[in-house]
Amino acid sequence: MTDAKVLNDWPQPYRLMDAQPYWEALADEQLTFQRCADCEQAVWPAHSVCTHCGSAGLSWEQSSGRGTIYSYSTILRGPTPVWSAIAPYTVGFVQMDEGYFLFTQIEGEPDGIEIGKEVSARFVQRGEQKLPVFALVTSGEEG
Ligand SMILES: [Zn+2]
Repeated sequence: MTDAKVLNDWPQPYRLMDAQPYWEALADEQLTFQRCADCEQAVWPAHSVCTHCGSAGLSWEQSSGRGTIYSYSTILRGPTPVWSAIAPYTVGFVQMDEGYFLFTQIEGEPDGIEIGKEVSARFVQRGEQKLPVFALVTSGEEG
């Protein structure tokens, strides 16, 4: 199940127009999000207006790629062959240092993953798309 053919069959994300700059930045291994010029809140997922105050003054910023685990679930049996090939794997919400929440894959042994632990992003090629995945920050590692 781990042959190259299976791993090239990753389902590709559905791209909303509002998030097109996000996908383009990922191709350059940059993680981005929106911020409102009026209320200064981080906005994610991407929108055409601020979800906090309704302003249309949204701009794109680069994320530090760091955050903490807010919630997670470890999947023991993948729903499709490509996911089965990497099971067990963990997905969940990371509370980014900029204040928004990103649903993502969290790498590492399931026993080592805990709510509140620090994680940082790296980029992996999944089919035609680069995507961010997060790994635990080990002690002594500086961002
Ligand atoms: Zn706002």
